[in-house]
Amino acid sequence: MLAKDEIITFTEVNKWYGEFHALKSINLSIHKGERLVICGPSGSGKSTLIRCINGLEQYDSGQITVNSHLLDPKNLKAVRGKVGMVFQHFNLFPHMTVLDNLTLAPRRTLGLSKAEAETLAIQYLERVHIAHQANKFPGQLSGGQQQRVAIARSLCMKPDILLFDEPTSALDPEMIHEVLDVMKELADEGITMVCVTHEMGFARKVADRVVFMDEGEIVEIAPPALLFDQPQNTRTQSFLRKIL
Ligand code: ADP
Ligand code: MG
Repeated sequence: MLAKDEIITFTEVNKWYGEFHALKSINLSIHKGERLVICGPSGSGKSTLIRCINGLEQYDSGQITVNSHLLDPKNLKAVRGKVGMVFQHFNLFPHMTVLDNLTLAPRRTLGLSKAEAETLAIQYLERVHIAHQANKFPGQLSGGQQQRVAIARSLCMKPDILLFDEPTSALDPEMIHEVLDVMKELADEGITMVCVTHEMGFARKVADRVVFMDEGEIVEIAPPALLFDQPQNTRTQSFLRKIL
């Protein structure tokens, strides 16, 4: 679909951890502005797949292209700035303020001055509704607030695509919605996002397509209404019976 707008393309990608075949002949195209949700049982390869997009894992065969450029494991710098990543456990630097967490990469990587980086940081903290906490340390914030800071930190690098790996799985239930709301706002603004999540309500509302993975394979890809209500594959059906 929409070949000219493809931002990420997997072609026959395989990944092994030693003897273990973690990604099996993955073919997947993600186009500009698309909101893709990846679901599947624990251990099915979801994290491995998205970590291959920004070079946190190296794939063994096949090709991944980002913005039509082959993802080169020897030159990940080129990709890292373009691909933002939000993790389950936020991964903020605990001994730095929120503001310093945000300005670090723009100063180091984009070469911005302190003042420029701080202006940028405040702008993105406002976007996730947390600018009033700029001088706090991560440990002084709730999990939901820390995750919104982590999202703002990714946005500061002006990525072409934002990857989320179970961004709400470590949160107390009452904080999940504040993170999902911010993600939905970003989706509405048209940012390309790939999101591993078990939040099926979010997937239904926000995703253009949902990918179901099992045992290192992409089993089924469809718009959420189709995948959730009329799954075609028996493996998808049995997974959905367990979680819905
Ligand atoms: P998911 O995110 O769907 O739970 P992962 O991509 O994390 O799955 O892992 C897929 C499989 O690969 C799992 O069986 C996991 O144990 C294995 N795996 C993941 N990372 C490593 C690693 N660094 N070394 C060895 N095996 C790994
Ligand atoms: Mg995972």
